[in-house]
This record gives sequence, C-alpha cells and structure tokens, in this order.
Amino acid sequence: MSARILVVDDIETNRRLLEARLTAEYFDVLMAQDGPTCLDLARCEKPDVILLDIMMPGMDGFETCRRLKADPETRHIPVVMVTALDQRSDRIRGLEAGADEFLTKPVDDVALFARVRSLLRLTSVMDELRQRESNGVEMLPFEPANGGGRVIVAAADQAAAHRIARALPATLDAHGYGDPKIAISQARHADLVIVDLSSPRFDGLRLCARIRSDVDTRQVPLLGVVDEMDKRTMVRALDLGVNDVISRPLDPGELSARSATQLKRKRYADALRDRLDESLEMSVRDALTGLFNRRYTVSRLRQALDGLRANHEPLTTALIDIDHFKRINDTWGHNAGDQVLKEICARLNEQLRAIDIAGRYGGEEFLVVFSNTTAREACDAMERARLAVCATPVTLRETGDIINVTMSVGVAEAFMDDSVEALIERADTALYDAKRSGRNRVIEAKRKAA
Ligand code: GH3
Ligand code: MG
Ligand code: MG
Repeated sequence: MSARILVVDDIETNRRLLEARLTAEYFDVLMAQDGPTCLDLARCEKPDVILLDIMMPGMDGFETCRRLKADPETRHIPVVMVTALDQRSDRIRGLEAGADEFLTKPVDDVALFARVRSLLRLTSVMDELRQRESNGVEMLPFEPANGGGRVIVAAADQAAAHRIARALPATLDAHGYGDPKIAISQARHADLVIVDLSSPRFDGLRLCARIRSDVDTRQVPLLGVVDEMDKRTMVRALDLGVNDVISRPLDPGELSARSATQLKRKRYADALRDRLDESLEMSVRDALTGLFNRRYTVSRLRQALDGLRANHEPLTTALIDIDHFKRINDTWGHNAGDQVLKEICARLNEQLRAIDIAGRYGGEEFLVVFSNTTAREACDAMERARLAVCATPVTLRETGDIINVTMSVGVAEAFMDDSVEALIERADTALYDAKRSGRNRVIEAKRKAA
C-alpha cells in the first residue's frame, strides 16, 4: 500500500499543486482546507504524514500542530510545516508546537520527497513497535522535551565539534569528537548523534552510513549539519537514514529545538521497546514465583538436548516437588502456601548458577536444566538447595507463624539420544523414589542399563 499524505492548506491552488506532485510520486493524498478538518481527518484516516500550512484563518498551523501532538490518537503522525517565509522564529515556534519538519514555500520537489521518505521510514519503525505493543495497553505519553540526554557531536576536528556541542542547551550531556572512530564507539551510548556534513575535510555521510548499518547504533537518532544551499547533501543524508538536518549558519534556538524533537522521539521508542521486552519477559515467566514458566523451561531443555548432540557436553535435569504441600495449604491457608512457594523458589535460585534454568513445572513442582553439568554436580547443587530449604523454616509475614518445609528431588543426566519426555520421565521416577523412601532427599535416576 502506498503512503498516505494529508495536505492541509486554506488555498485551493496550493492544495491542488501538492496533490498533483505527490500523486505523481505514487503517494495517496488526502486534503483539508483548515485546522479543524485536519484534526478530524487525522483521527479517522490516520495518514502517514501531514503537510501543514502555517498561515490559515481561524486555527493556524501552530495551534493545529499542538492539538495533533496533544491527542494520543494522532501524536505519532509526523507533521511537516510548510512556511511561506524562511523565518527561523517560525521554525522554532513550529518545533515547539511539536512539528517534525519544515519546508519552505515554494516547495522544492527534491526536498519534499526526501523529507517525506525520511519521515515515512521513521513512521514504519514506530508503527511496528506500536503494533507489537498494542495488546490492550494504553498509548505511552510523549515525555516533555526538556529531559536530559547524552549527545555526541562528530566534526572535522575537535574544535569544530566543540563549537557545535557548546551551542546545545546546558541540560544536555554533550561531547564533541574530531575522530570518526571515537565518535562511532561513543555513538553506542548516545541518545543523539550530531554529524557535521558541511566540511570538505570530513566525510560525514560515510560516518552516518556506518552508524546506520552497525547493529549497536542503528537506532540512535542522527542530526546532520549541512550548508544552507547544499540541497544535494541534505537529500543524500535523509536518504541514508539521517533523521533530520539543520542548516548553517547554526541558530542555537533551532539546534536545541531540533535536538529536543529527536531526543523526545528516542525516549518514546525506547519506552516502547522496554515495554515490549517486559511483555516478552512476562510471556516466559511464572507470575507468582518469578521462575520461568513450564513451556519456556521445556523449550530450553529441548534446545539443550540438541546442543548435547552437537557439543557432547553433559546435561542434567532435576525435578523438585515440595513435600506435603497440601498440608501447608490446609493448615495455614492458600496465601500462606503462596508465600512458601515464593520463599522456596528464592532459596532455590540462590543455589543455582546464572546459566542454570529453573522453571515452575507444576503447582509445587520445579524443573531445573543444568547445562554442561554431570548428574554428580547437579546432585551436589540440589543437596545444597534441599538443605537451604529444610534448615530454616519459613516465617509467615503477617502472622509470624513458622512453617517447616522440605522438598524431594529427582535428578537425571541426559543420554546422547534422549528425548525431552524420556529425560523428564527418568527424573520423575527418581523423584517418586525420593518420596517413597521418606521425602526430604535427592535421588539420582538409574543410569541406562548397559
Ligand atoms: P507430596 O509430598 O506427595 O508431594 O504431597 P503434596 O501434598 O505436596 O502433593 P499434592 O500433589 O497432593 O498437593 C500439591 C498441592 O499444591 C495441591 C495444590 O492445591 C497445591 N498448589 C498447587 N499450586 C499452588 C499454588 O500456586 N499456590 C498454593 N498455595 N498451592 C498450590
Ligand atoms: Mg508435593
Ligand atoms: Mg506435586
């Protein structure tokens, strides 16, 4: 599907002109003749980009933009403001109203298409994140633009880089570098990278391309500094994936407003990504105990078995079951039972290494996958865990009641041609033996008969 662009202008000729040029480039065009119509169309049609005229009777472009950016339904749509004059004060007002971009009338085709393409690229990334996130959670608010951030400036030499860095607001943690190699390594930890593309002594475009292709820096916002008249570099930069360009002579107000827009976007994208990580995390974790859930643990065991065949490292699994847990529930209640489960899992975790995978296999049953571990070593670890559980009773938070808890463990080492099911079954048989022979003990499964 081609991208949809909403053109907002009070003058019909202007609208028709933009429509003709955008349609020729295979964009779908929607049109509005004033601010309120723009707000309506933005909400119900969800265009990919809005081209917004500033001077309109009634609600002007600034106000329209502010409202678009205040509405959770429309705030993610990039807004390009179309100004009649190349007024820096207008630009700053626009950026403060939340505009993402500017074009000066008469609109130059090359600049227009480069801007629109760059914004569409951004939209598609954001859309993907938003879509993955949209399982019923409310939209994240855009944070206020005045937060801090780490900014890296790369220019032809240290002094030039520092000059740009100094023009940024003091709230930002800005550093200038004259060496592209250092700039790249610093970009990894940056919230924004500003690259000078206006010096013949320095191949800023190459640096931008490197930053965009490296997995560690692919996501970092890039702001290019170009010469006022150098449209060619501007277009190449935007096509390379630079998020925004600012022209020389640098105006500190504009620089700070454009930086703020990029930082705000980065925080938004980061927050979306964190939320996503969190929901992925939730899908593999058991909510009560914080251990992995059964599905995930078994899938890791399956992977480990594949690994065993590939690298011949020993692999052992342990099945743990709390003894007489039903009695705990019956005597102290279900909430007390939950508390005991949590406490036991915490103690179990303390005895495991970071690479061991512990999961909740059933109500009061746990499965541990020990990679690169023999049955002997796993039995030692489980013996330590068993002691950590039975040596100290669990004290209930509310009542201070003291509950003695023990657990039984079955341990089984994998064979070369084992299946997940067969391996767990052997651990389960050993666990059953532990229960039958008196509970509160660790028993290793019999090795395969020769
Ligand atoms: P055994 O020593 O033979 O393992 O005896 P047991 O009582 O531990 O075994 P049984 O399987 O009969 O009972 C397990 C109990 O664990 C039954 C179930 O109600 C309880 N249970 C399972 N999940 C939870 C939970 O999430 N919270 C609480 N509080 N209890 C749970
Ligand atoms: Mg039990
Ligand atoms: Mg049980």
